[in-house]
Amino acid sequence: MCNDNTVDKLKNEFHYTLSKFSHEIRNPLTLISSGLQMIASAHPEVQDYKQWDDIMDNLDYVKELLNEFSTFNNAGRINLTSTDTGTYLKTILSSVKPTLDYLDIQLDTDIPDSLPIMMLDQIRIRQMLLNLLKNAWEAVPVPGGKISFSVRLKNPGICIDIRDNGCGISPEQQAEIFQPFFTTKESGTGLGLPVVKQVVEAHDGSISVESAPDHGTVFHIFLG
Ligand code: ADP
Ligand code: MG
Repeated sequence: MCNDNTVDKLKNEFHYTLSKFSHEIRNPLTLISSGLQMIASAHPEVQDYKQWDDIMDNLDYVKELLNEFSTFNNAGRINLTSTDTGTYLKTILSSVKPTLDYLDIQLDTDIPDSLPIMMLDQIRIRQMLLNLLKNAWEAVPVPGGKISFSVRLKNPGICIDIRDNGCGISPEQQAEIFQPFFTTKESGTGLGLPVVKQVVEAHDGSISVESAPDHGTVFHIFLG
């Protein structure tokens, strides 16, 4: 049996190894990226090769993977600050509204006026909500996509429901979605929901999902 100190030490070593590993990949990747840009500006005709776009897409994918990997590695470490929850949540939703308008997706919000002041890690909770909203907008039909974001007061704490009218998640997939690298998307990383879960649990909260294929999905997030 490991005691708490040993577990903490192992966790720290694991985080350190992952961040060192990401760093070691990021440096040569940056060189490859700028090298390719220089080749393209000196010899624009290379961009006519069919493979060029594939190379660029793969490069973007690996960059995205590294960014999400780094978020995943740090998601469990939180820095709590006293937060005016209502104002904070409304600001996050205003920041995604232009993207949803652009994608022609309807966003309905229901945030009560008198939400409590809560101790939250504002960067991580924002990341967590954006991951859930992004999954929702990637799942909904276009046109006709709808997402609703509603908050209910619990005593203590709050429950946030993020609902969409998207493709839904089968019961078999629901068992896998919080596992790192599980994805059904062509260029998904499968790290969005594992980050969500870590952030929620680091706040001593909980998350559950209700979904059925072709009937949409709702994620319930409880923060105490
Ligand atoms: P990614 O978005 O990179 O695939 P995530 O961890 O964010 O990784 O999500 C994992 C998988 O869970 C998705 O590929 C998708 O199959 C499923 N999923 C998550 N949210 C939704 C949603 N709102 N509607 C339908 N499927 C979803
Ligand atoms: Mg995602």
